[in-house]
Amino acid sequence: MPTERFSVLPSTEAKAAHIRDDILAAPGFGRYFTDHMAHVRWTADAGWHGHEVRPYGPLTLDPAAAVLHYAQEIFEGIKAYRHEDGSVWAFRPEKNAERFRRSARRLALPELSDEDFIDSLRALLAQDHAWVPTPASAAEESSLYLRPFMIASETFLGVRPAKEVDYYVIASPAAAYFKGGVAPVSIWLSSQYKRAAAGGTGFAKCGGNYAASLAAQKEAEAHDCSQVAFLDAAENKWIEELGGMNLFFVYRDGRLVTPRLTDTILEGVTRDSVLTLARDEGLTPEERPISIDEWREGAANGEITEVFACGTAAVITPVGELVTEDGPIRLSAGGDNEVAKRLRSHLLDLQYGRRDDNRGWLT
Ligand code: PMP
Repeated sequence: MPTERFSVLPSTEAKAAHIRDDILAAPGFGRYFTDHMAHVRWTADAGWHGHEVRPYGPLTLDPAAAVLHYAQEIFEGIKAYRHEDGSVWAFRPEKNAERFRRSARRLALPELSDEDFIDSLRALLAQDHAWVPTPASAAEESSLYLRPFMIASETFLGVRPAKEVDYYVIASPAAAYFKGGVAPVSIWLSSQYKRAAAGGTGFAKCGGNYAASLAAQKEAEAHDCSQVAFLDAAENKWIEELGGMNLFFVYRDGRLVTPRLTDTILEGVTRDSVLTLARDEGLTPEERPISIDEWREGAANGEITEVFACGTAAVITPVGELVTEDGPIRLSAGGDNEVAKRLRSHLLDLQYGRRDDNRGWLT
């Protein structure tokens, strides 16, 4: 077993089965954590070493640890799904491993090998598999959310890439992400704030991107919206993505359009999967720039029949309206979100093993 490279120190404070079951019955999102965490250490001298699974618990960091000051940090988000036969599967983890390496390069952090990344998930799940919920029904969509992250832990206030880095994986049982389930959500269009600019870190999954999005998120909440849509920083015209999800537009003629990838957009694993599954569903995927004017006009004249957002946490979520300072943009046509629902079921059926995984997407 490759996971034998990870030594295991079992928790002496693991939650009792009945407490775990109570948590799994209503886990919410990101609130409860499993009994263990995976850890690998990196130093400039020794490289990656000390692969271990140890009890979940607080980290000891020096107050001068670089991550606390300069945010040299990256993370990933990936789910483990329990199939009907009890087995536990991750969806396309090699895509997350690859993105993690891309993020590491941009943040001047050491790259973790895909093998270490995937084995760290395996090693943690080998200890904590009982925390992967068993969905009571196809509608339930519960899973174990895995959160790999890497931090600059060196005690040093100089601004330069850290020479000591720690990588961890923690895990948190998850129910559906949005409180409303698959009900269409309202999205706020941020006109003041930008998420990313060319040459910046938009394509990397680093904490700073999310810190920078929170003021806009506050605005969204003040307008009763659950997420923010961002436009490009250069022209304030092109649709990029949401704070934590990619965007898709369904056209009356069967085209499925999503903004083409640039260094200001995070390449979602769900986005890539939707582009692939779209052909199976008889749609014509297109990756190209799409402007806010095209959204507004297409919504008004009925060319655009659906808008949806996608990401690991929320899968596929229809966008009911885009709230802007010039008033809301709502679709005049459609409203049944038939394509979003179809793609959503397709994806979930694959993830939960209810459909043949002919592309080898499950590990
Ligand atoms: N964009 C951003 C900014 C995100 O944080 C996420 C979530 N990782 C996504 C898109 C969707 O990516 P994925 O489908 O890999 O979860």
